[in-house]
Amino acid sequence: QKKRRDIMEEIQTKIIKVNEKNPEKDLISLGANVINEGGLVAFPTETVYGLGANGFNEEAVKKIFIAKGRPQDNPLILHVSSVEQVESLVEFISPEARILMERFWPGPLTMLFKRSSLVPDIITAGLDTVAIRMPNHPIALELIKKSGVPIAAPSANTSGKPSPTLAAHVMEDLNGKIDMIIDGGSTGIGVESTVLDLSVHDPMILRPGGITLEELRKINPKVVEDLSIIKDDKNIIPKSPGQKYRHYAPKAEMIVFTGEVQNIVDAINEYTYKCIDQGKTVGIMATEETKDRYKKGIIISVGSRRDKKTIAHNLFNTIRLFDEKKVDIILSEGVESSYIGTAIMNRLKKASGGNIKKV
Ligand code: AMP
Ligand code: MG
Repeated sequence: QKKRRDIMEEIQTKIIKVNEKNPEKDLISLGANVINEGGLVAFPTETVYGLGANGFNEEAVKKIFIAKGRPQDNPLILHVSSVEQVESLVEFISPEARILMERFWPGPLTMLFKRSSLVPDIITAGLDTVAIRMPNHPIALELIKKSGVPIAAPSANTSGKPSPTLAAHVMEDLNGKIDMIIDGGSTGIGVESTVLDLSVHDPMILRPGGITLEELRKINPKVVEDLSIIKDDKNIIPKSPGQKYRHYAPKAEMIVFTGEVQNIVDAINEYTYKCIDQGKTVGIMATEETKDRYKKGIIISVGSRRDKKTIAHNLFNTIRLFDEKKVDIILSEGVESSYIGTAIMNRLKKASGGNIKKV
């Protein structure tokens, strides 16, 4: 008991409200001070909220793993505010990588490079590659610039839970465990960055995210996806360590229905009646186009099928809402796995523990 005292002790989490469009620089400086002193700061990015520490400070980075309960073998992304900052962190930057940076940075594209000796082992979980991205958010960029170091930052949630898209989600998970939360409102994209491995022959997407396969292929037609993303086979081990864990999981059981939209609606309606008969409270994750076709259950529209970006934006918040409503089971519509839909389906698969019904 005594031994873990240092870990378990509650700390006072400061919350700082910052204007997301035009961040007050003096307020961001407070965050940078915490980073420089080896503390933890949660901050908004264009994807989800990140939990940041000085990427060169091993002790500070350790605290990220403890606060989140993150498995030690799951490496972290380093966030930079300039391309020059990348040079010292990697062995070299290929022309291919430079073209992608030029086109997609700042933005939700994380790239893997052969690491330099400057990168602490704890960041890469002992791998010989390091993941780097430049976020497209004025608060995140200012925080990195002011700190003067690359910021290691996974999503600012408890490991296994849905990623935070609001400061309130960070509070829910990490209040008392981290030094500061910079509240910059709701994050835009709502799902995490795309992780692209450039250390292999053909660039390979290890995690689908905010930049789609289709967008990447316009710049580099050779880009491929890790088999574990394409296939529904649980026996295929993902190349990215983080992808093998259950993630984004609600407290409730969850089933995702895929197929023709009308078939999905029919199947969910049928399943809802069955669950209600068994005395279960049912949550239905519907869409704008289908929400009126359900008669029973707690129905929440996650966004519009005509603009899947709205679904990505609301996805994690909606999963958290069902938990708040204490439903026993969430029946979710699936979407077509193309463009941002690939990332949405990847998150739904993980959230449901692979509980997908094709109808
Ligand atoms: P998070 O920041 O929590 O959204 O997770 C970052 C993702 O990037 C996880 O899925 C990690 O496993 C992955 N990642 C980070 N560094 C590497 C690396 N060097 N090789 C493969 N995957 C990585
Ligand atoms: Mg995460």
